[in-house]
Amino acid sequence: MMKKSETYDVIVVGGGNAALCAALSAREEGAEVLLLERAPQEERGGNSSFTEGLMRVVYNGADDIKALSPDLTEEEMVSDFGAYTEEKFFDDMARITQNRTDPDLCEILVRNSNGIMHWLKQKGIRFLPQFGRQSFKVGGKFTFWGGATLAAVGGGRGLVDGLYKAAGKAGVKVLYKAWVRDLVHTDQGVTGVVVKLDGSTQRFPARNVILACGGFEANAAWRSRYLGKGWDLAKVRGTKYNTGDGLEMALRIGAQPCGHWSGCHAVGWERYAADFGDYALTDDYERDSYPFSIMVNSEGRRFLDEGADIRNYTYAKYGRIILEQPGQFAWQIYDAKVVHLLRPEYRTRHVTRVTANTIEELAGKLEDVDRERLLKTIREFNAAVKREVPFNPNVKDGLRTEGLAIPKSNWANPIDTPPFEAYAVTCGITFTFGGLRITTEGQVLDTNHQPIPGLYAAGEMVGGLFYFNYPGATGLTSGAIFGRLAGRSAALAARKITAATETHGNTRNLS
Ligand SMILES: Cc1cc2nc3c(=O)[nH]c(=O)nc-3n(C[C@H](O)[C@H](O)[C@H](O)COP(=O)(O)OP(=O)(O)OC[C@H]3O[C@@H](n4cnc5c(N)ncnc54)[C@H](O)[C@@H]3O)c2cc1C
Repeated sequence: MMKKSETYDVIVVGGGNAALCAALSAREEGAEVLLLERAPQEERGGNSSFTEGLMRVVYNGADDIKALSPDLTEEEMVSDFGAYTEEKFFDDMARITQNRTDPDLCEILVRNSNGIMHWLKQKGIRFLPQFGRQSFKVGGKFTFWGGATLAAVGGGRGLVDGLYKAAGKAGVKVLYKAWVRDLVHTDQGVTGVVVKLDGSTQRFPARNVILACGGFEANAAWRSRYLGKGWDLAKVRGTKYNTGDGLEMALRIGAQPCGHWSGCHAVGWERYAADFGDYALTDDYERDSYPFSIMVNSEGRRFLDEGADIRNYTYAKYGRIILEQPGQFAWQIYDAKVVHLLRPEYRTRHVTRVTANTIEELAGKLEDVDRERLLKTIREFNAAVKREVPFNPNVKDGLRTEGLAIPKSNWANPIDTPPFEAYAVTCGITFTFGGLRITTEGQVLDTNHQPIPGLYAAGEMVGGLFYFNYPGATGLTSGAIFGRLAGRSAALAARKITAATETHGNTRNLS
């Protein structure tokens, strides 16, 4: 039986970073807010809670870092933070998306990226630079290289818990295990949601609804439908709850799809990882040190330029290339010269690793790989390295190969120093790029290019920002900015509806 509840100014669908920022922002504008999270409380927070909490933001030097991370010690402040200017962020977005990123959305993202951190800080989130993961210590000093310098203390879990705490304090009402199944839609626009809660289907009326319930990365059928053949075989890095529900219900009422629906963020991931993210294991499954490796497939061949750019600018597109290899797997091979640079997760128990004292021994041990072809690949690779160039992990060092069909453009150390290590990887999908078209106020447009009254979107559900690839650590920044924007817009719209209702009666038939 369908039950009816009180009318909220704003209902937020989802319980990750974008949803929480939307809810907090709507509350700041005085709206009565209900947040509906599909997951149980202990699994709340969506993909946001699986992250490192790393955020790509504009800063113009060490002072800007200190302003966001006031607890840094004098010793830590000696680090070389460099700068990440607006210009650089714009350039990265344009280059990485092959000039496809929506200019208006991109502008909102870049120009608000520093400010959103101060807003989050006011909400109680603390930030620290990612020493070691976004910088290497060279000459006794950490040098940051990737535009993604700061992360929330406690990672994604710390960020999400901090935002739930702030939401609780601000008076946002939260319901868990609240599976939103549909939008209530009339000629006046969206006037509520249909929710499955505690086994019963209920209707929650609202003046405005914000969809912030993720992409369709955890839906195998949709992955193969939109991303293409083979994508049903990818491992899901994060939450199992992002199955495209919000997109589906919005498209059903005529919302306009936007962006790269056949595109996604996908990385190299432990070959035998679980099918979905697991808080206890996810961090151990990352295999992002590949710029210092050579990667080979089952035919024993290299198939991509491991050193094309620093990790933050290649990792999100290399998962797709691994998925396209026979058997959907590859091996990353390292020698003793670089193993000290491997991220700590390579040293956990949750790895598929092979070690050997000779290349021949290693080649024999790699499961499902053509041994003779692999030995030839390594010989050819080593012979092609321009050895006179010094190796430097902190910059694109130009230590490259010459004459190979598939070059390695940086960090191309020969594989010649025992012991050797190899790690088996497959494709782990992070999130999908396709979303809904929104206005610069966060409102969803329909396929007539008209705003749908009462409907807003934020986070992974916003289409048009990312195409082909993604500059690492932009998802949380984008989720917070577009969440905050949608929250404010929805609250202001609710205020107008309330004022109009007081003057003219119930004009939008909220039911
Ligand atoms: C392992 C991993 C590491 C990452 N690391 C980083 C990083 O360090 N920095 C970074 O910027 N990005 C990172 N990302 C990407 C980042 O997680 C996303 O870009 C961002 O968290 C998306 O936020 P969101 O709020 O849109 O979605 P989510 O955080 O996924 O939230 C979606 C929410 O919607 C809920 N939901 C889904 N369907 C329904 C429904 N029908 N009804 C009600 N609720 C529903 C889900 O339960 C969830 O709470 C990482 C992702 C993963 C998986």
